[in-house]
Amino acid sequence: MAQVNYPEVWDLDSIFRGGSESKEFKEFVIGNDRQIDELNEAIGEEASFDQLEDYIHRIQIQMQRNRQSSAFVSCLTAQNVKDKEASLWLGKMTEQSTKIQMIWGKIEDFLVELTEEQWNEFSKRPALKSVLFHLKERRFQATEKLSPNEEKLAAKLEIDGYHAWGKVYNEAVGRMQIPFEEKGVEKPLSAGQLQNRLNSSDRSVRERAEIASERAWEKETDLFASTLNHLAGFRLQLYKARGWDQVLKEPLAINRMQETTLTAMWETITDNKPRFYEFMARKAELLGVKKLAMHDVHAPLPVEGDTNIPYSEACELIIKHFKQISPKLAAFTEGALRDGWVEAEDRAGKRPGGFCTTFPLSKESRIFMTYDGTMANVATLAHELGHAYHSHCLKDMAPLAQRYAMNVAETASTFAENIIADALVKEAPTEEATLSLLENKISRSLAFFMNIHARFLFETRFYEARKEGFVPVTQLNTLMEEAQKEAYGGQLATYSPTFWASKLHFHITGVPFYNFPYTFGFLFSLGIYKKAMETGSSFEDDYIALLQDTASMTVEDLAKKHLNVDLTSKSFWQEAIDVILKDVDTFMELTKS
Ligand SMILES: [Zn+2]
Repeated sequence: MAQVNYPEVWDLDSIFRGGSESKEFKEFVIGNDRQIDELNEAIGEEASFDQLEDYIHRIQIQMQRNRQSSAFVSCLTAQNVKDKEASLWLGKMTEQSTKIQMIWGKIEDFLVELTEEQWNEFSKRPALKSVLFHLKERRFQATEKLSPNEEKLAAKLEIDGYHAWGKVYNEAVGRMQIPFEEKGVEKPLSAGQLQNRLNSSDRSVRERAEIASERAWEKETDLFASTLNHLAGFRLQLYKARGWDQVLKEPLAINRMQETTLTAMWETITDNKPRFYEFMARKAELLGVKKLAMHDVHAPLPVEGDTNIPYSEACELIIKHFKQISPKLAAFTEGALRDGWVEAEDRAGKRPGGFCTTFPLSKESRIFMTYDGTMANVATLAHELGHAYHSHCLKDMAPLAQRYAMNVAETASTFAENIIADALVKEAPTEEATLSLLENKISRSLAFFMNIHARFLFETRFYEARKEGFVPVTQLNTLMEEAQKEAYGGQLATYSPTFWASKLHFHITGVPFYNFPYTFGFLFSLGIYKKAMETGSSFEDDYIALLQDTASMTVEDLAKKHLNVDLTSKSFWQEAIDVILKDVDTFMELTKS
């Protein structure tokens, strides 16, 4: 076979030539400005059906153009953090997307104001077929809210009275300096730097980091109890005014799912926890401790061997294994890797982490990461390629029908990552390598089953307590420790009572309950993976059809239509968890002696 060349530096010039100095890009952005203004001015006090249809069409074009330019800017800022010109573009992107949101709000008002009869007539228009789910959803959600004018006032008050608390939190965390001793010298670390020490492969470093972390956050709890109580108080007041008594109502609606689905998922996880406790006890033995500490749960085993997989080999390996499950995914991947969709080079000046972003007008994606040859890198590459494939399957859908919710956003990526994680375990050169890879897979799922579960339990109980009044630090600490003990089944030697303060997600105001969608997404994808394993090649087209519908259905309908399963019953969730339990069995067997 001829050697195929997989470039390690991505090609952005084919999107807009010339990087952050690109004339082509500048003209594109100026064009957006003009088109947004034109649309805004075109919308008057009233709209005929023809006009309304035209607005819906044009706003979607603007959404796509904004996505196209924002994706370009995020690629530029990631590949070179010092690209000042690119950073300047960021502000412009936000300005344009805010304007688009505002115009979309005006269009929604028209939709909401239609009588049932008018709506029935309007919704029959063929041009609206592909976005009908979205329009209906917006209309329905509006009926559950206050009047448009009251909602507009609330949105304005949110800027200084709600989102501002999240901002204060971020600023205070940004200023934190935590003293930490390394090589005999004490130096101040940021909260993020200390977080890296908590993930160290050296247990004594982790242990000291956990103590330093708990102490540092304790000092800030008065302030963070204040910000958290106030942002939660705002949220609850708004819910009360809208007549909502369930705090989960909004997050469930955002994720297009029912509460019975969520309950079935958590209950099935809870039923299965004892098997994971056995794994945790075994891991504790391997680490030479009686019980795992909080910081041990995700720590690597000290057996990890040296592996270095050159980039081209990683590409070949991914294509080869994708091919066995989904030839179309493999063919897509081969093209993406060959055509410079991936920025993988290990060089200075790049942003840390990885992401996949989509250029809807070019119908292409770009993947950003820093590849240095570890197994984890191979898994990340497969994960991001999964995201790119999801976008690829959606590329010809209407723009609104490409906007899926957070809980299904990881469907294709987790699926792709799983194919590779399983293949790596099967092909591991030594038993040590097998163990290390298995351990990694299982620990990862523990994050979804236990850590995220603790966050969900805490947040649910905190909001209930907040309805009665201000929740003081001592109570927050107790609620958190209780939630952790419950979620981890009391299996740990240490807990983190100040986790409510240190975990950013509780303080995010963009979306409420930034926790359960992670677990849902992980298990949903595993359930699909299990089906794929059982069904074989005929599964591929069903899988693509499912991905294409991810932004146009509730999750229950999506699962019913494409997998013929009922998400509100436990059996689907059990099958998904069984995938991990099989790994636990193998791990327990290999570590018996
Ligand atoms: Zn992802």
